[in-house]
Amino acid sequence: MGKTLYEKVFERHAVRQLPSGQYQLLMGLHLVHEVTSPQAFQMLREQGLPILMPERTFATVDHIIPTKSQLRPFADSLAEQMLEHLEANVRDYGIRYFSPEDGSQGVVHVIGPELGLTQPGMTICCGDSHTSTHGAFGAIAFGIGTSQVRDVLATQCLAMDRLKVRRIEVHGSLGPGVYPKDVVLFIINRLGVQGGVGYAYEFAGEVFDRMDMEGRMTVCNMSIEGGARCGYVNPDTTTYQYLEGRQYCPQGKAWDAAVRDWDGIRSDPDAQYDDVVRFDAAEIEPMVTWGITPGQSTGVRGRIPSAESFAVDEQATVREAHRYMDFEPGQAILGTKIDVAFIGSCTNGRFSDFEEVARLVQRSGSKVAPHVRALIVPGSQSVRRALVDHGYDRVFTDAGFEFREAGCSMCLAMNPDKLQGREVCASSSNRNFKGRQGSPQGRTLLMSPAMVAAAAVRGEVADAREVFA
Ligand code: SF4
Repeated sequence: MGKTLYEKVFERHAVRQLPSGQYQLLMGLHLVHEVTSPQAFQMLREQGLPILMPERTFATVDHIIPTKSQLRPFADSLAEQMLEHLEANVRDYGIRYFSPEDGSQGVVHVIGPELGLTQPGMTICCGDSHTSTHGAFGAIAFGIGTSQVRDVLATQCLAMDRLKVRRIEVHGSLGPGVYPKDVVLFIINRLGVQGGVGYAYEFAGEVFDRMDMEGRMTVCNMSIEGGARCGYVNPDTTTYQYLEGRQYCPQGKAWDAAVRDWDGIRSDPDAQYDDVVRFDAAEIEPMVTWGITPGQSTGVRGRIPSAESFAVDEQATVREAHRYMDFEPGQAILGTKIDVAFIGSCTNGRFSDFEEVARLVQRSGSKVAPHVRALIVPGSQSVRRALVDHGYDRVFTDAGFEFREAGCSMCLAMNPDKLQGREVCASSSNRNFKGRQGSPQGRTLLMSPAMVAAAAVRGEVADAREVFA
């Protein structure tokens, strides 16, 4: 019987089964950032432990870095202190650090792929939930907690349960103006935010076969929002074309050998899945969240659903969402006034995301509505440089967007980019939890970058297919 990619990668990395029934799993790549690592390094120091494989450990700074200027020292002394700790830790333990000063800094899930650190068949972990992003390359990648960061630093291993595998097929073709973000919001809407608990998600079907790597990253990034521990796409020529020649990828004969090996880790045609679900791409519209979980969403032409239209055990959360977001059941999502527009994050902060927005804005000659604060925040310094090289920074600033430095910015607002009071933000990020964007009362509407741009231009939720027609 054939095997899934998940099973093959898991078995390759399983060191042994533990008495608890879990497996000790070797981690091929450990990505570290400033927020979840300081206590882990402190624990190592207290226990006098070295890092077992510093050559498999890479660090950057993303959450706390200001995006107006990266000049040191930061105005926020706590942020400055956190970065100083990271700098001391990477120096003391001999870890490669991608820093703002050397031009290689960025959101950890943006720089891993762009440097070619992320490769098919790997196990990848990071003290950040959205590590699932790296599954786009056919890796098994997941977020870990601070004590696990310590464990991986000390042993390069983790104790893991084996997951079930759900294959999610999306067949057919996406309509114009429908993007990978819409696909993943649609999937989460249908399967629920808890639907993936205990599962790895395998994304398959023509829509993913045709999707570029940056789109696949957007989808895998949000697997975690659907409850799955990780999500992946089987590697193919699209994967290899993206990776070939990147800094940390094998070169020459080693590259050819790696591709042969990666071809062998794809799920077999006769692999058995614990579950298979199929969707028709024609059903997917540009999506907008109206609630306080990424599953509470609707097509842009839809209306806010009533609590009664949900299962009994979900109704309290739906009513809470209505109250928090100030939405009435039956109300159209179109026309919801926004105050802030944010395009960035590890979900949608890559070159193709911004290129598409620049193309739409430039072609239509659109300008940001006067009452809207609109931020363009590249996911990495490398993305930022590429945007400048193409002249897109000018397109954005001429249209009224602020063009910022690289970082997580308003995705989590652990930096000066925050909502104020009850502001409503159209956001290309991945979470719309209460207070997620820095104000305890702030409200987030998740959508694709094109839809954020449309909202920025109209000053309210709008259908990008019309705004940029
Ligand atoms: S962009 Fe957002 S989700 Fe991604 S790593 Fe930063 S804070 Fe986390």
